Amino acid sequence: MLSSREVEKKKNNKVVEVGDVKVGGEELVIMAGPCAVESREQLFEAAHRVKEHGGQILRGGAFKPRTSPYSFQGLGEEGLKLLAQARERTGLKIVTEVMDSEDIDLVDSYADILQIGSRNMQNYGMLKKLGRVDTPILLKRGYSATIKEWLLAAEYIIAHGNPNVILCERGIRTFETATRNTLDLNAIAFIKETTDYPIIIDPSHGTGKRSLVTPLAQAGISVGADGVIVEVHPNPKEALCDGEQSLKPAEFANLVIKLDKVAKAIDKKLAV
Ligand code: PEP
Ligand code: MN
Repeated sequence: MLSSREVEKKKNNKVVEVGDVKVGGEELVIMAGPCAVESREQLFEAAHRVKEHGGQILRGGAFKPRTSPYSFQGLGEEGLKLLAQARERTGLKIVTEVMDSEDIDLVDSYADILQIGSRNMQNYGMLKKLGRVDTPILLKRGYSATIKEWLLAAEYIIAHGNPNVILCERGIRTFETATRNTLDLNAIAFIKETTDYPIIIDPSHGTGKRSLVTPLAQAGISVGADGVIVEVHPNPKEALCDGEQSLKPAEFANLVIKLDKVAKAIDKKLAV
């Protein structure tokens, strides 16, 4: 496989550059923001709090993959415009999902990182097209995908010309129902040991519960993740999507303090 340590005998991890933010380098990167872009007020408030408390990259979906076709589907291009304005105001880079091959160029014209969601991890036609852009890709693990299937999905993008892939472990489906998904910490340690990909962890979707996000983010960093992506909402009770797993801004501030301590304990540091 193209990125296997065995084949390339690389000593160093691959670093994906998002402007001046480096994912997979010396410093741990924090990506945070609402599940979905809902309004100017909501997004700007979230963005300012993410910046203030130490994030580097703002997340927020403009195109949302919802289980029900009757749920809020996202603001589309209007959401992308708001993300670009939030970047302008805060200096944060932006990561947002592209759900459909047809929208790659549109989303790419706004985003600093293109997120490929769990449901699209094996959309091979789309993965091939993502090889034609050079924007970094955040490839989330399919919720029923093995590690091997996930790594091969990453290779689709690389083999078609875009080497800038960041993996994201977001939990898999198991027999367990107490939590939304089962965050696979093994995958983080295994991928760090056997590949040179940067990999981040998403404890928001990985657990589905606000109270579990910080402990699992700490665990992810402990086992070698290069950063985290977490959902933060100014008022989770009013969220149109994933409020129950979204941190309040003060909880996000606390998460960053805790991750700073974990980072120091394993001789790493946050990018703040
Ligand atoms: C998200 O990041 O909001 C999302 C929909 O993630 P996933 O594709 O991992 O479910
Ligand atoms: Mn979400």
